[in-house]
Amino acid sequence: MELTDICCNLTHDSFAKDREEVLKRAREQGVNRLLLAGANLAESADCIRLANSHAGCWAAVGVHPHHAREWGEEHPQKIRQWAQQPRVLAIGECGLDYDRDFSPRPVQRTAFAEQLELAHELQLPALLHNRDSDADFLSILGEARCPERMVLHCFTGGSELLHACLDLGLYIGVTGWFCDERRGSALREVINEIPLDRLMLETDAPYLLPRTLSPKPRTRRNEPMWLAHIAEQVAHALRIPVEELARHTHNCAQEFFAFPAEFDLQLS
Ligand SMILES: [Zn+2]
Repeated sequence: MELTDICCNLTHDSFAKDREEVLKRAREQGVNRLLLAGANLAESADCIRLANSHAGCWAAVGVHPHHAREWGEEHPQKIRQWAQQPRVLAIGECGLDYDRDFSPRPVQRTAFAEQLELAHELQLPALLHNRDSDADFLSILGEARCPERMVLHCFTGGSELLHACLDLGLYIGVTGWFCDERRGSALREVINEIPLDRLMLETDAPYLLPRTLSPKPRTRRNEPMWLAHIAEQVAHALRIPVEELARHTHNCAQEFFAFPAEFDLQLS
């Protein structure tokens, strides 16, 4: 079984001491492609560095809504330069987060719209973030010049948001949020409504440790290896074999991101 983790924050400090082990464990579980996402320019640079030195790893570059207040004139230029690198496959995470409001909302909207335009210009897919900001999120997607391929990562919403996103042509990313009986209930109800050719899986590690792991790990840190567990849980809900879900989501990610084969992990 092969799996692609379309969003993991492997540059996070919590992985500083054992990153190689974390990657090894992920690969042992079949997670042989990972897209590393940066939250701001510094992290994006780290993602590229990490991807460049690890087979099976690629980078998304951009500014997360939490860091939108950092967005400035120099950003588009930097991102244009990075986009020339073969390991840089997407713009993101970008979007809106009205739950935490770490950056003022008008600034979040500007950074989001400008990154969409940039992704369009560079013909790169975009990794989108949306939390408690559905109306503005959808209206910006309706107005901005958007790239052809966009995925709403860590989808947590219900039927209304899901169908609005699908109508806009979005792909849907599902994390271990799905495994949370309470918080994930809206998502669990609509999992059947996501077309298999628009569904991708992700851990968002080190965040969102699946709550259904048994035995429970000693730490709350999530790891890409738990993508296999998320796949099992989603497959169970969809009543299909996990291998079938893995094949669909892995192929979907391949079509979406076009991972260049020369940087793949060589499986013997
Ligand atoms: Zn996010």
